[in-house]
Amino acid sequence: MWRTIRITVLLLILVVVAGQAWLDKHTTTSWQRTVFVGAFPVSADGSAVSRAYIEQLDQGQLDGVTRFISAEAHRYGIALEEPLELRLYPALSEAPPVLAPQAGIAARILWSLKLRYYRWHMLSRISRARPQIALFLLYHDPALASALPHSAGLQRGLTGVVHLFASRAQEAQNRIVIAHELLHTFGATDKYDPDTGLPQFPEGYADPEQSPRYPQEQAELMAGRLPVSADKAVMPEGLGEVRIGPLSAREIGWIKP
Ligand SMILES: [Zn+2]
Repeated sequence: MWRTIRITVLLLILVVVAGQAWLDKHTTTSWQRTVFVGAFPVSADGSAVSRAYIEQLDQGQLDGVTRFISAEAHRYGIALEEPLELRLYPALSEAPPVLAPQAGIAARILWSLKLRYYRWHMLSRISRARPQIALFLLYHDPALASALPHSAGLQRGLTGVVHLFASRAQEAQNRIVIAHELLHTFGATDKYDPDTGLPQFPEGYADPEQSPRYPQEQAELMAGRLPVSADKAVMPEGLGEVRIGPLSAREIGWIKP
């Protein structure tokens, strides 16, 4: 009984929040004006390594993401010179709420509400221009975490929680992960097989028409990896080897239905 009431109340709150999110999505995917995205670095592990990394982080290390999105948007005929701008904001001292991997439906709803509250709370402290989309960049010391937790975003909540390695050597990869999670906040879906990690054909291929099909020269951003044969895919070196495919472009409003 109590459980049913709790879930019903959470669902009602979510309906209201979803209505707002629909409006937000409409304004961010019309591509008539530059969308401002805030990048908020935060240490995921409290280590000295991630703290030192965040201290040296500057805007130039993120600009590649903005350039990549602009170039891809222009390829799809978006006229706006800078469709999106990713801006680095000062580091936060408090990390966003985490979603447990085995979380059930009620726990997921609760997490999404907590994350919305966290976003509101963090953004309310900003006096200068507030971004429309917030990406929380959680940096991990590579020596403490061999694999990173799955990044998560609210596909319609204009918020992304992005896990990254606090390492200069990982920066090109980090920019790919940031661009991938950023596209989720605009409504793009993953295009890889969750069991094998391999890109799905044809939507997860940058050039599905290429002949011979393998090796592909570029990776599709939402598939993440670059198919070199029917059963092998590798991480691209950087955004120079990545493209946004037609299905992802459609999902984020670059191709009108
Ligand atoms: Zn994804």
